[in-house]
Amino acid sequence: MSSENANKGEDCLGWAARDESGVLSPYKFARRAVGSDDVSIKITHCGVCYAEVVWTKNKHGDATYPLVPGHEIAGIVQEVGSNVRGFKVGDHVGVGTYINSCRNCDYCNDGLEVYCEKGVVYTYNRLDVDGTMTKGGFSTYIVVCERYCFRIAESYPLASAAPLLCAGITVYSPMIRHKMNQPGKSLGVIGLGGLGHLAVKFGKAFGLNVTVFSTSTSKKEESLTLLGADNFVVSSDQEQMKAMAKSLDFIIDTVSADHSFDMYMLLLKTAGVFVMVGAPNEVKLSPMSLILGMKSISGSVAGGTKEMQEMLDFCAAQKIYPNIEIVPIQYVNEAIERLIKKDVKYRFVVDIENSLKY
Ligand SMILES: [Zn+2]
Ligand SMILES: [Zn+2]
Repeated sequence: MSSENANKGEDCLGWAARDESGVLSPYKFARRAVGSDDVSIKITHCGVCYAEVVWTKNKHGDATYPLVPGHEIAGIVQEVGSNVRGFKVGDHVGVGTYINSCRNCDYCNDGLEVYCEKGVVYTYNRLDVDGTMTKGGFSTYIVVCERYCFRIAESYPLASAAPLLCAGITVYSPMIRHKMNQPGKSLGVIGLGGLGHLAVKFGKAFGLNVTVFSTSTSKKEESLTLLGADNFVVSSDQEQMKAMAKSLDFIIDTVSADHSFDMYMLLLKTAGVFVMVGAPNEVKLSPMSLILGMKSISGSVAGGTKEMQEMLDFCAAQKIYPNIEIVPIQYVNEAIERLIKKDVKYRFVVDIENSLKY
């Protein structure tokens, strides 16, 4: 791909952050030409993930501007390379948080590319093997190797599919790894944002008894009625927490704000598993929280290509749909600010197809 863009102009229109203000505005750029293993995807929708806040505002100090974010991409195949076998023009597809990996290590060979030994290439703000900075889904189209592209069922709305590509896989992957798909077991979900609300839906689809933990009682009604959780606990209510002691087989913690871990470990049964998918500044807990009761604490990030396809197929078969608020690209800056304030139920999805135009 060394001759990238040789015969292409800057025909991709995106919205990019230009500096640490993180404010996005229209930006034209070139995508690479479609290689033999590539598919070119006309993007119809892109979800708004907290990663957008992190990178557009350079929270990790590694942002390269102009930066086109977006890694919950759904769209329609518009061109395929000569070697592509898995996709044809017109197929509904998605792209998630990464678009390349070494393709040769144990993890890549196991379909766990996100844990590639050489480091995965993120969908945006990373140097790709062809020397270009990757650019995400707040843009009219994207070119990716078919390995990092996923089938979306025709019957499944593309807008709904978008949040599955990051939020969905982030909770689905550890749920499968830790065998949370055993009907009758019990799951606690901490935090009710983009990730948490999908953990509740997957939990119910797996036949689990699901309890939502939130700092605010205001989420009770929606947890029980809208999302179908079995139980709701205000985490600051000592009595309610005490009543849950040793009652849970699993906990998924989606919260990125700093919080106590010990009080949740007490809620796990013997050999219970606590999975962290949020990113607080620090994890601090008493060793006794693990030792007494043989408990485990585990982390997880996104998921591999194999489980991504499984998850998308599972959602289509089970009719699991994220709760979304569809917005035009012109609203994306406001959407990001509202996401920071947790003012969304539960995922913004940008309608790229109908709002991002020349
Ligand atoms: Zn994300
Ligand atoms: Zn690898």
